[in-house]
Amino acid sequence: MTSVPSSSLERSVRGSVRTDPGGLAPFGHDQSHLSGTPRAVVAPADADDVVALVRWARRERVPLVARGAGTSLDGESVPTDGAVVVDLSGWNAVLEVDPGELSARVGPGVVNRDLQNALRPHGVFFPPNPGSWTVATIGGHVGTNASGPRSFRYGPTRAWVRGLEAVLGTGERARFGTRVAKRSVGPDLLQLLVGSEGTLGIVTEVTVRLAPMPAHREGLVYPLEETTKLGAVARRLRGAPGTGLSAVEYLDRGSAAVLAQRRNAEWPADAPLLLVEVESDDPREAPTRRERVSAALRSVGLHRAPIVFGDADELWTLRGASGVALDERMGRRIREDVAVPLGRVDELVHRFEEIARDQGVALYLYGHLGEGSFHPNFVVDPTTAAGDRIRAAVLNAALALGGTISSEHGIGRTKVGYLEREVGRVGLELLEVAKRRCDPDRILNPGKLYPSRSHRVGGRPSPWLSGPAAEGTPPG
Ligand SMILES: Cc1cc2nc3c(=O)[nH]c(=O)nc-3n(C[C@H](O)[C@H](O)[C@H](O)COP(=O)(O)OP(=O)(O)OC[C@H]3O[C@@H](n4cnc5c(N)ncnc54)[C@H](O)[C@@H]3O)c2cc1C
Repeated sequence: MTSVPSSSLERSVRGSVRTDPGGLAPFGHDQSHLSGTPRAVVAPADADDVVALVRWARRERVPLVARGAGTSLDGESVPTDGAVVVDLSGWNAVLEVDPGELSARVGPGVVNRDLQNALRPHGVFFPPNPGSWTVATIGGHVGTNASGPRSFRYGPTRAWVRGLEAVLGTGERARFGTRVAKRSVGPDLLQLLVGSEGTLGIVTEVTVRLAPMPAHREGLVYPLEETTKLGAVARRLRGAPGTGLSAVEYLDRGSAAVLAQRRNAEWPADAPLLLVEVESDDPREAPTRRERVSAALRSVGLHRAPIVFGDADELWTLRGASGVALDERMGRRIREDVAVPLGRVDELVHRFEEIARDQGVALYLYGHLGEGSFHPNFVVDPTTAAGDRIRAAVLNAALALGGTISSEHGIGRTKVGYLEREVGRVGLELLEVAKRRCDPDRILNPGKLYPSRSHRVGGRPSPWLSGPAAEGTPPG
């Protein structure tokens, strides 16, 4: 990249431009171990200003990295050195709520929690609830197709976006999707943008789909045995009728112990835990639903009574606080995000344990059991060769079991080298077609999601693949 004077940038956009090192520093990293040094941070004034910024970046050949709250976990929002960060956190207006249509129009910088607060008086909510929901933005959710515990019932962000507006890497403004609930207009181009990690366009407005708020949500905590077959639990709960289950979460013994320390009341101190949420349209249905969940668990050999949280949010707040404590205890680590079909869950967990044993590192395991989705945390420096080996072993294990290398966090920089193994040659080439049309100069978030110029598919260099070198870890 050539050195471009910031005055040319300042002349080109109307929004604020920061170049002071102190102002740039917070934008050089996300919640992964990666970092970069941006040349500037621009907060565009409006969508036309984004167009002006993209035109400038094309002219000057400077990368642009869209950013919400910067909480991504695989380097998705980490700038390459010399990039301009496009700070959309100020675009935080809830523009319209239409409870009758079950939709809302929002700026990409709206924080999930602020959106929920704006929706509550209307008796509706936006279901995706990542652990980062108090700070992460809707634009970031779209960028990574984020989800959280309640995706057991509601699915990921992808299922809750009806339309969006974006400025492509060409500088064109484009609209994807509409406000209507049902469309049959060929393949869904809107979904091309969801999960695209800011590599195809900069999202300037999102129309989200909403759900009616259930009248009652309670949390249940069941102690498990070390020998519990997790796959059987997940499959039994997935198929259990009339339970109103909306979340089925797992914590291994080490992770559960941290939760236990935060809870003063009676608590199983030395057992893995199953945390579930049960929704009811009428609070009087709750005991019946609870009993159905317990009966389903008895049928797979779990006979202990649950601890009941009359308000599910109380349980999730406790879980969130213990998650922070757990983060502090673990320190630097590999924090993975893989999923497998429910029938292969026990094999995957066994493989995690083998990897930890072989490499001589501590493992803390938790995740969204009901969806076969796990976050194994290996306490090892992610920048070391051991870290690379562990990541490779985990991703290869998930793929070998018919699963995915990213259940919800995205590809970012850390997994770009593994993408072909999951989507195949055709998948990679289709992604490349989209890139060439939407961002021909490859200025949008280079090094993320898209493999490098020299990438080979099916053992041969692909005529479809071109672009700046990506920094992903090579497959192990
Ligand atoms: C403690 C913690 C818990 C987490 N829990 C979960 C979880 O349960 N589930 C889950 O899925 N994730 C989770 N995450 C990951 C992360 O919070 C989510 O991916 C979140 O959606 C990112 O939002 P953000 O605003 O921070 O986005 P950023 O990190 O700023 O950006 C994420 C990606 O989206 C792109 N992007 C952002 N805004 C735009 C835009 N306007 N236009 C185009 N592209 C854009 C960025 O370029 C980047 O590629 C967690 C992270 C932390 C730190």
